[in-house]
Order: sequence, then structure tokens, then C-alpha cells
Amino acid sequence: MCASCAGPGSSTGRDEWGHRPGPMGFRTVILDAGHGGRDPGAVSRHTSQCEKDLTLDMAHRVRRELGRDFRVLMLRHDDRFIDLDERVLLADRHGDAVLVSIHFNSGPSHLRGPETYYWRVDSHGLAVRLQRAMRAASPAEHGNRGLVRRRLRLTRNPQIPCVLIECGYLSHPQESRLITSPEYRQKMATAVASAIRAQAAHGDAGTGPRPRPIYSPPSRPTDPPGS
Ligand SMILES: [Zn+2]
Repeated sequence: MCASCAGPGSSTGRDEWGHRPGPMGFRTVILDAGHGGRDPGAVSRHTSQCEKDLTLDMAHRVRRELGRDFRVLMLRHDDRFIDLDERVLLADRHGDAVLVSIHFNSGPSHLRGPETYYWRVDSHGLAVRLQRAMRAASPAEHGNRGLVRRRLRLTRNPQIPCVLIECGYLSHPQESRLITSPEYRQKMATAVASAIRAQAAHGDAGTGPRPRPIYSPPSRPTDPPGS
């Protein structure tokens, strides 16, 4: 759908601020496998796995899960570098779509569990669903990192609902070993796909109160971290 066809009051189509209810009935899912090419992302010192390979593997798994019911687009299909601003431009070619950027986390060695970032009001419901589904798939019941509202280039700048998920910590000794298991990654991918499917079917219903609108400019590479 062209943005101008989305019409007023539609929860789909492109919108600069995203201060509106989350989408329902969307047909297109854009999957962004984080990092790639010369940017490996996090590298596990426990398993030597690179984040860029795991995100691509996860994106393919989620695509296969969603395949029959959605038009699924991947911002990269192979091991290549794409700048974050370029990823935003690629995602913004589509209306009636949501963007899910897939990552794996790294931090102090005691941290574990899935974590989900969002910024736009219209991305909150999908973020809640994604975090809930990943938490249920993860055995880290005491290490669930929860939902974080943060202005990142892939949570603020796209003009469609967009969420960034961290599917677990490559820096945690046990979790990084779990992530080496294709069966575990498939379980996580199935959970991610089910959250996207539920958002398309039910919109924000059951995802709690929407957050307040925040008027902040687009995220820039020169912004201080965490701003
Ligand atoms: Zn990452």
C-alpha cells in the first residue's frame, strides 16, 4: 500500500512519529538480521559464535515460520554490511508493514535472557508480544531483561512500527552455549513468529496501556549512547 492510500486513522502505512495504536491486519513483515560483513556484532568468548551469523540464521528461521501467511522481506540475505541509515531507508519503502531487527546481546557475564527495544507508541504492542514470547521460550526465568523504550536508529527512525529484539546473551556462559543449539534457535524463532502473527490478528489488544508520546528527533550516529 502506498503511504497516501493508508488514509487518516489507519494504523498501517507510513507515519513519521508513530504516535498511534499499533498495527493490525498488516501483510508485510520486514526482518533485519543485525550486523553483517565487516561488522560481526558481538562475538562470544565462550563459543566463538558471531552475532552477525546468528542473526541471519534467526531471520531465515522466522521467515520460514511466517512464510505462507505474510510477505516477508529480509534486509540482508547473506553476510554483507549495511549501514543502519540504509536499513531505515530500505524498510521505509514499504507501508502496511512492521520491521523486526534481530540481535543477540553482550554485556557483563551475569546478564542473560531476552530483551526488547521499542520507541514508537505504535510499536509498543508488538514489543510486548515479542518480549513475552521470547521470555516463554527462554529458560532464563530470573534473567528476563524485559522491555526497554529507547530511541535507536532502528526504533525511532523508520516510518513504520519497528522493534529491535535481543534474543539472548552471547556473553553469558550458559546462554551462549544454549544459543549454539539449532533446536533452541528454532524455538526462539517460532516464538518471534507467533508474536508477529498475534499482533497482526489482534492489534494491541491485551498488551497493556500504550506509553505516552515522546517528541524527540530522529536518532543520529553522533548521539551519545543511550540517549
Ligand atoms: Zn547487535
